[in-house]
Amino acid sequence: MKALVYQGPGQRGWDTVPDPTIIDPTDIVVRIDTSTICGSDLHILKGDVPETPLGTVLGHEAVGTVQEVGASVSSVVAGDRVLLSCISSCGRCRFCKEHRYGLCLGGGGWIFGHLIDGLQAEYARVPFADNSVYKLPDELTDEQVLFLADILPTAYEVGVLNGMVSPGDTVAVVGAGPVGLAAMLTAQLYTPGRIIAIDLSDARLESATKFGADTTINNGREDAAARIMELTDGLGADVALEAVGVPATFELATELIRPGGRVANIGVHGHSATLHLEKLWGRDVTITTGLVDSYTIPQLMRLVASGRLDPTLFATHHFSLDDTMAAYDTFADAANTHALKVVLEGA
Ligand code: NAD
Ligand code: ZN
Repeated sequence: MKALVYQGPGQRGWDTVPDPTIIDPTDIVVRIDTSTICGSDLHILKGDVPETPLGTVLGHEAVGTVQEVGASVSSVVAGDRVLLSCISSCGRCRFCKEHRYGLCLGGGGWIFGHLIDGLQAEYARVPFADNSVYKLPDELTDEQVLFLADILPTAYEVGVLNGMVSPGDTVAVVGAGPVGLAAMLTAQLYTPGRIIAIDLSDARLESATKFGADTTINNGREDAAARIMELTDGLGADVALEAVGVPATFELATELIRPGGRVANIGVHGHSATLHLEKLWGRDVTITTGLVDSYTIPQLMRLVASGRLDPTLFATHHFSLDDTMAAYDTFADAANTHALKVVLEGA
Protein backbone atom coordinates (compact mmCIF):
# COMPACT_ATOMS: atom_id res chain seq x y z
CA MET A 1 0.00 0.00 0.00
CA LYS A 2 0.94 3.67 -0.18
CA ALA A 3 1.47 5.78 2.95
CA LEU A 4 2.99 9.05 4.12
CA VAL A 5 6.22 7.99 5.81
CA TYR A 6 8.41 9.95 8.25
CA GLN A 7 11.92 9.45 6.91
CA GLY A 8 13.75 11.65 9.44
CA PRO A 9 13.83 15.35 10.31
CA GLY A 10 12.67 17.38 7.32
CA GLN A 11 12.08 14.24 5.23
CA ARG A 12 8.80 12.64 4.20
CA GLY A 13 7.69 10.44 1.31
CA TRP A 14 4.57 8.90 -0.23
CA ASP A 15 6.06 5.44 -0.10
CA THR A 16 5.10 1.85 -0.80
CA VAL A 17 5.02 -0.03 2.52
CA PRO A 18 3.74 -3.49 3.55
CA ASP A 19 -0.04 -3.84 3.95
CA PRO A 20 -1.01 -3.82 7.64
CA THR A 21 -2.24 -7.09 9.14
CA ILE A 22 -3.86 -8.22 12.39
CA ILE A 23 -1.16 -8.74 15.03
CA ASP A 24 -3.15 -8.93 18.28
CA PRO A 25 -6.64 -10.46 18.56
CA THR A 26 -7.94 -7.02 19.66
CA ASP A 27 -6.84 -5.42 16.35
CA ILE A 28 -8.81 -4.54 13.26
CA VAL A 29 -7.57 -3.49 9.83
CA VAL A 30 -9.31 -0.49 8.30
CA ARG A 31 -9.33 0.99 4.79
CA ILE A 32 -8.79 4.73 5.15
CA ASP A 33 -11.56 6.66 3.39
CA THR A 34 -10.77 10.16 4.65
CA SER A 35 -7.81 11.48 6.61
CA THR A 36 -6.24 14.81 7.52
CA ILE A 37 -3.01 16.47 8.71
CA CYS A 38 -2.34 18.00 12.14
CA GLY A 39 0.19 20.50 13.46
CA SER A 40 1.74 17.63 15.45
CA ASP A 41 2.62 15.90 12.18
CA LEU A 42 4.64 18.99 11.28
CA HIS A 43 6.32 18.86 14.70
CA ILE A 44 7.34 15.24 14.09
CA LEU A 45 8.68 16.21 10.66
CA LYS A 46 10.73 19.01 12.21
CA GLY A 47 12.38 16.42 14.46
CA ASP A 48 10.74 17.81 17.66
CA VAL A 49 9.32 14.40 18.64
CA PRO A 50 12.37 12.14 19.01
CA GLU A 51 10.36 9.10 20.18
CA THR A 52 8.76 8.71 16.74
CA PRO A 53 10.77 6.02 14.92
CA LEU A 54 12.06 6.64 11.39
CA GLY A 55 9.80 4.86 8.93
CA THR A 56 6.59 5.56 10.91
CA VAL A 57 3.46 6.21 8.85
CA LEU A 58 2.12 9.59 10.06
CA GLY A 59 -1.46 10.66 10.82
CA HIS A 60 -3.85 10.20 13.73
CA GLU A 61 -7.24 11.37 12.44
CA ALA A 62 -9.35 9.38 9.96
CA VAL A 63 -12.61 7.83 8.91
CA GLY A 64 -12.35 4.31 7.53
CA THR A 65 -14.15 1.10 6.67
CA VAL A 66 -13.41 -2.07 8.63
CA GLN A 67 -11.77 -4.75 6.46
CA GLU A 68 -10.60 -7.44 8.88
CA VAL A 69 -11.44 -8.11 12.50
CA GLY A 70 -9.24 -9.78 15.15
CA ALA A 71 -10.51 -12.90 16.91
CA SER A 72 -11.58 -11.13 20.11
CA VAL A 73 -13.16 -8.01 18.59
CA SER A 74 -16.92 -8.02 19.10
CA SER A 75 -18.21 -4.48 18.54
CA VAL A 76 -17.50 -3.98 14.82
CA VAL A 77 -17.67 -6.18 11.71
CA ALA A 78 -16.18 -5.92 8.24
CA GLY A 79 -17.94 -3.17 6.31
CA ASP A 80 -18.65 -0.90 9.30
CA ARG A 81 -17.68 2.78 8.93
CA VAL A 82 -15.68 4.00 11.90
CA LEU A 83 -14.03 7.14 13.21
CA LEU A 84 -10.42 6.59 14.30
CA SER A 85 -9.37 9.05 16.97
CA CYS A 86 -5.95 10.36 17.94
CA ILE A 87 -6.31 8.50 21.25
CA SER A 88 -6.50 4.72 21.63
CA SER A 89 -7.63 3.03 24.83
CA CYS A 90 -6.69 -0.35 26.23
CA GLY A 91 -9.88 -0.17 28.27
CA ARG A 92 -8.35 -2.04 31.20
CA CYS A 93 -5.79 0.16 32.95
CA ARG A 94 -6.42 2.51 35.84
CA PHE A 95 -6.62 5.61 33.67
CA CYS A 96 -8.84 4.05 31.00
CA LYS A 97 -11.25 3.03 33.79
CA GLU A 98 -11.34 6.74 34.74
CA HIS A 99 -11.97 7.76 31.08
CA ARG A 100 -8.52 9.38 30.98
CA TYR A 101 -7.67 7.52 27.79
CA GLY A 102 -4.92 9.97 26.87
CA LEU A 103 -2.96 8.67 29.88
CA CYS A 104 -3.54 4.97 29.05
CA LEU A 105 -0.91 2.74 30.68
CA GLY A 106 -1.79 -0.35 28.66
CA GLY A 107 -0.29 0.60 25.31
CA GLY A 108 -2.94 3.13 24.19
CA GLY A 109 -2.94 6.94 24.36
CA TRP A 110 -1.55 8.90 21.41
CA ILE A 111 0.01 6.04 19.46
CA PHE A 112 -1.13 6.49 15.81
CA GLY A 113 1.49 8.23 13.71
CA HIS A 114 3.58 8.70 16.85
CA LEU A 115 4.61 5.33 18.28
CA ILE A 116 2.98 3.03 15.70
CA ASP A 117 2.00 3.42 12.04
CA GLY A 118 -0.73 6.01 11.55
CA LEU A 119 -3.63 6.92 9.33
CA GLN A 120 -2.32 8.90 6.31
CA ALA A 121 -2.27 5.66 4.36
CA GLU A 122 -4.48 3.43 2.27
CA TYR A 123 -4.93 0.98 5.17
CA ALA A 124 -4.17 0.93 8.89
CA ARG A 125 -3.92 -1.55 11.73
CA VAL A 126 -6.04 -0.33 14.65
CA PRO A 127 -5.22 -1.78 18.11
CA PHE A 128 -7.76 -2.09 20.96
CA ALA A 129 -10.57 -1.69 18.44
CA ASP A 130 -13.45 -2.40 20.83
CA ASN A 131 -12.39 0.48 23.09
CA SER A 132 -10.96 2.88 20.54
CA VAL A 133 -13.14 3.24 17.43
CA TYR A 134 -16.48 4.98 17.04
CA LYS A 135 -19.08 3.46 14.71
CA LEU A 136 -20.61 6.05 12.40
CA PRO A 137 -24.27 6.49 11.57
CA ASP A 138 -24.95 6.39 7.79
CA GLU A 139 -26.39 9.90 7.75
CA LEU A 140 -23.14 11.59 8.80
CA THR A 141 -20.57 12.28 6.08
CA ASP A 142 -16.86 11.64 6.60
CA GLU A 143 -16.18 15.36 6.58
CA GLN A 144 -18.78 16.02 9.27
CA VAL A 145 -17.03 13.72 11.74
CA LEU A 146 -13.36 13.78 10.66
CA PHE A 147 -12.38 16.65 12.95
CA LEU A 148 -13.90 14.87 15.95
CA ALA A 149 -10.75 12.73 15.79
CA ASP A 150 -8.62 15.40 17.46
CA ILE A 151 -9.18 19.17 17.36
CA LEU A 152 -12.82 19.23 18.51
CA PRO A 153 -12.47 16.97 21.58
CA THR A 154 -9.11 18.59 22.39
CA ALA A 155 -10.55 22.08 22.44
CA TYR A 156 -13.74 20.98 24.17
CA GLU A 157 -12.27 18.73 26.87
CA VAL A 158 -8.96 20.42 27.63
CA GLY A 159 -10.24 23.95 26.97
CA VAL A 160 -13.97 24.49 27.42
CA LEU A 161 -14.74 21.78 29.98
CA ASN A 162 -11.52 22.10 32.02
CA GLY A 163 -11.99 25.89 31.94
CA MET A 164 -15.63 25.45 33.06
CA VAL A 165 -16.97 27.93 30.51
CA SER A 166 -20.36 29.05 31.83
CA PRO A 167 -23.30 31.13 30.54
CA GLY A 168 -22.41 34.81 30.37
CA ASP A 169 -18.65 34.30 30.72
CA THR A 170 -16.11 36.42 28.91
CA VAL A 171 -13.90 33.78 27.29
CA ALA A 172 -10.51 34.79 25.89
CA VAL A 173 -8.95 32.31 23.48
CA VAL A 174 -5.23 32.85 22.97
CA GLY A 175 -4.33 31.39 19.56
CA ALA A 176 -6.75 31.09 16.64
CA GLY A 177 -5.29 28.05 14.91
CA PRO A 178 -7.50 24.99 14.35
CA VAL A 179 -7.50 24.16 18.07
CA GLY A 180 -8.25 27.72 19.22
CA LEU A 181 -11.02 27.99 16.61
CA ALA A 182 -12.45 24.66 17.80
CA ALA A 183 -12.43 26.11 21.32
CA MET A 184 -14.43 29.11 20.09
CA LEU A 185 -16.90 26.80 18.34
CA THR A 186 -17.45 24.48 21.32
CA ALA A 187 -17.41 27.29 23.92
CA GLN A 188 -20.66 28.45 22.31
CA LEU A 189 -22.36 25.27 23.57
CA TYR A 190 -22.26 27.03 26.97
CA THR A 191 -23.55 30.43 25.77
CA PRO A 192 -20.69 32.65 26.90
CA GLY A 193 -21.39 36.37 27.04
CA ARG A 194 -18.45 37.22 24.82
CA ILE A 195 -15.64 35.37 23.04
CA ILE A 196 -12.40 37.27 22.49
CA ALA A 197 -9.85 35.84 20.03
CA ILE A 198 -6.17 36.77 20.33
CA ASP A 199 -3.62 35.95 17.62
CA LEU A 200 -0.68 37.50 15.77
CA SER A 201 -2.20 36.72 12.38
CA ASP A 202 -4.97 38.88 10.91
CA ALA A 203 -6.04 36.02 8.64
CA ARG A 204 -6.51 33.74 11.65
CA LEU A 205 -8.45 36.48 13.45
CA GLU A 206 -10.69 36.81 10.42
CA SER A 207 -11.39 33.07 10.66
CA ALA A 208 -12.08 33.55 14.36
CA THR A 209 -15.05 35.80 13.62
CA LYS A 210 -16.50 32.97 11.50
CA PHE A 211 -16.05 30.53 14.39
CA GLY A 212 -17.86 32.72 16.92
CA ALA A 213 -15.42 35.36 18.19
CA ASP A 214 -17.16 38.63 19.05
CA THR A 215 -13.95 40.61 19.47
CA THR A 216 -10.51 40.04 17.95
CA ILE A 217 -7.18 41.34 19.22
CA ASN A 218 -3.92 41.21 17.27
CA ASN A 219 -1.43 41.04 20.15
CA GLY A 220 1.41 41.92 17.78
CA ARG A 221 -0.05 45.40 17.49
CA GLU A 222 -2.01 45.79 20.71
CA ASP A 223 -1.53 45.07 24.42
CA ALA A 224 -4.06 42.23 24.71
CA ALA A 225 -4.23 42.19 28.50
CA ALA A 226 -4.82 45.96 28.66
CA ARG A 227 -7.56 45.76 26.01
CA ILE A 228 -9.31 42.94 27.88
CA MET A 229 -9.21 44.95 31.12
CA GLU A 230 -10.87 47.80 29.21
CA LEU A 231 -13.56 45.47 27.89
CA THR A 232 -14.31 43.98 31.33
CA ASP A 233 -14.42 47.04 33.61
CA GLY A 234 -10.89 46.43 34.77
CA LEU A 235 -11.57 42.90 36.04
CA GLY A 236 -10.31 40.56 33.33
CA ALA A 237 -11.82 37.62 31.47
CA ASP A 238 -13.63 34.84 33.36
CA VAL A 239 -11.79 32.16 31.40
CA ALA A 240 -8.64 32.10 29.26
CA LEU A 241 -8.01 29.17 26.92
CA GLU A 242 -4.36 28.90 25.86
CA ALA A 243 -4.12 27.32 22.40
CA VAL A 244 -0.62 28.19 21.19
CA GLY A 245 1.98 26.44 23.34
CA VAL A 246 4.70 29.08 23.90
CA PRO A 247 5.68 30.70 27.24
CA ALA A 248 4.46 34.18 26.22
CA THR A 249 0.91 33.01 25.53
CA PHE A 250 0.64 30.99 28.73
CA GLU A 251 1.85 34.02 30.68
CA LEU A 252 -0.62 36.25 28.79
CA ALA A 253 -3.46 33.84 29.66
CA THR A 254 -2.65 34.14 33.37
CA GLU A 255 -2.46 37.96 33.09
CA LEU A 256 -5.79 38.52 31.42
CA ILE A 257 -8.13 36.63 33.79
CA ARG A 258 -10.14 38.18 36.60
CA PRO A 259 -9.70 37.25 40.27
CA GLY A 260 -11.36 33.84 40.66
CA GLY A 261 -10.85 33.22 36.94
CA ARG A 262 -9.67 30.10 35.18
CA VAL A 263 -6.85 29.34 32.73
CA ALA A 264 -7.19 26.14 30.76
CA ASN A 265 -3.92 25.36 29.01
CA ILE A 266 -4.33 23.39 25.78
CA GLY A 267 -1.03 24.19 24.04
CA VAL A 268 1.79 21.68 23.94
CA HIS A 269 4.80 23.41 25.51
CA GLY A 270 8.43 22.71 24.71
CA HIS A 271 9.89 25.32 27.05
CA SER A 272 9.29 26.35 30.64
CA ALA A 273 6.97 29.29 31.21
CA THR A 274 7.06 31.58 34.25
CA LEU A 275 4.23 31.20 36.72
CA HIS A 276 3.88 34.65 38.32
CA LEU A 277 2.83 33.48 41.77
CA GLU A 278 3.91 36.83 43.18
CA LYS A 279 0.90 38.29 41.34
CA LEU A 280 -1.41 35.28 41.32
CA TRP A 281 -1.17 33.83 44.83
CA GLY A 282 -4.03 35.86 46.27
CA ARG A 283 -6.27 35.95 43.19
CA ASP A 284 -8.10 32.61 43.62
CA VAL A 285 -7.26 31.46 40.10
CA THR A 286 -7.46 27.92 38.74
CA ILE A 287 -5.02 26.65 36.13
CA THR A 288 -5.62 23.34 34.39
CA THR A 289 -3.57 21.31 31.93
CA GLY A 290 -4.39 18.21 29.96
CA LEU A 291 -3.93 15.87 27.08
CA VAL A 292 -7.07 15.09 25.11
CA ASP A 293 -8.83 11.87 26.16
CA SER A 294 -11.49 12.02 23.43
CA TYR A 295 -14.16 10.74 25.81
CA THR A 296 -16.53 13.43 24.44
CA ILE A 297 -16.54 12.10 20.86
CA PRO A 298 -19.99 10.44 21.21
CA GLN A 299 -21.46 13.62 22.68
CA LEU A 300 -19.92 15.80 19.97
CA MET A 301 -21.17 13.37 17.32
CA ARG A 302 -24.73 13.73 18.60
CA LEU A 303 -24.39 17.51 18.38
CA VAL A 304 -23.20 17.20 14.77
CA ALA A 305 -26.10 14.85 13.96
CA SER A 306 -28.63 17.26 15.43
CA GLY A 307 -27.18 20.18 13.48
CA ARG A 308 -25.96 22.08 16.56
CA LEU A 309 -22.27 21.78 15.67
CA ASP A 310 -20.76 22.09 12.19
CA PRO A 311 -17.12 21.01 12.04
CA THR A 312 -17.07 21.14 8.20
CA LEU A 313 -16.12 24.84 8.56
CA PHE A 314 -12.54 23.66 9.14
CA ALA A 315 -12.22 21.95 5.74
CA THR A 316 -10.50 24.66 3.69
CA HIS A 317 -8.70 22.38 1.19
CA HIS A 318 -9.39 18.97 -0.39
CA PHE A 319 -6.86 16.55 -1.90
CA SER A 320 -6.97 12.95 -2.96
CA LEU A 321 -5.08 10.69 -0.55
CA ASP A 322 -2.56 10.10 -3.36
CA ASP A 323 -1.77 13.81 -3.20
CA THR A 324 -0.87 13.81 0.51
CA MET A 325 2.59 15.22 -0.29
CA ALA A 326 1.02 18.30 -1.92
CA ALA A 327 -1.50 18.55 0.92
CA TYR A 328 1.43 18.80 3.39
CA ASP A 329 2.91 21.66 1.38
CA THR A 330 -0.41 23.53 1.52
CA PHE A 331 -1.02 22.82 5.21
CA ALA A 332 2.53 23.75 6.25
CA ASP A 333 2.27 27.08 4.39
CA ALA A 334 -0.89 28.22 6.20
CA ALA A 335 0.34 31.83 6.33
CA ASN A 336 -0.05 32.03 2.54
CA THR A 337 -2.64 29.34 1.79
CA HIS A 338 -4.88 30.18 4.81
CA ALA A 339 -5.35 26.45 5.33
CA LEU A 340 -7.12 25.40 8.52
CA LYS A 341 -7.56 21.67 7.85
CA VAL A 342 -6.99 19.71 4.65
CA VAL A 343 -9.25 16.78 3.78
CA LEU A 344 -7.49 13.77 2.21
CA GLU A 345 -9.95 11.64 0.27
CA GLY A 346 -9.20 7.98 -0.39
CA ALA A 347 -10.04 6.26 -3.66
P1 NAD B 1 -1.34 26.22 15.15
O1 NAD B 1 0.12 26.34 15.21
O2 NAD B 1 -2.01 25.91 13.88
O3 NAD B 1 -2.03 27.56 15.68
C1 NAD B 1 -1.43 28.36 16.65
C2 NAD B 1 -1.93 29.78 16.47
O4 NAD B 1 -1.27 30.57 17.46
C3 NAD B 1 -1.60 30.39 15.10
O5 NAD B 1 -2.77 30.95 14.53
C4 NAD B 1 -0.54 31.45 15.43
O6 NAD B 1 -0.65 32.59 14.61
C5 NAD B 1 -0.88 31.78 16.87
N1 NAD B 1 0.24 32.32 17.65
C6 NAD B 1 1.56 31.94 17.61
N2 NAD B 1 2.28 32.66 18.49
C7 NAD B 1 1.41 33.51 19.09
C8 NAD B 1 1.55 34.51 20.08
N3 NAD B 1 2.73 34.80 20.64
N4 NAD B 1 0.44 35.19 20.46
C9 NAD B 1 -0.77 34.93 19.90
N5 NAD B 1 -0.96 33.98 18.97
C10 NAD B 1 0.12 33.28 18.56
O7 NAD B 1 -1.72 25.14 16.27
P2 NAD B 1 -3.07 24.31 16.52
O8 NAD B 1 -3.09 23.10 15.67
O9 NAD B 1 -4.24 25.23 16.53
O10 NAD B 1 -2.76 23.80 18.00
C11 NAD B 1 -2.65 24.72 19.07
C12 NAD B 1 -1.90 24.09 20.24
O11 NAD B 1 -2.67 23.00 20.76
C13 NAD B 1 -0.54 23.49 19.84
O12 NAD B 1 0.40 23.75 20.86
C14 NAD B 1 -0.85 22.01 19.76
O13 NAD B 1 0.31 21.22 19.93
C15 NAD B 1 -1.80 21.89 20.93
N6 NAD B 1 -2.57 20.64 21.03
C16 NAD B 1 -2.76 20.15 22.28
C17 NAD B 1 -3.45 18.99 22.48
C18 NAD B 1 -3.69 18.48 23.86
O14 NAD B 1 -4.14 17.34 23.99
N7 NAD B 1 -3.43 19.25 24.90
C19 NAD B 1 -3.96 18.28 21.36
C20 NAD B 1 -3.78 18.82 20.09
C21 NAD B 1 -3.08 20.00 19.93
ZN1 ZN C 1 -5.52 2.03 29.21
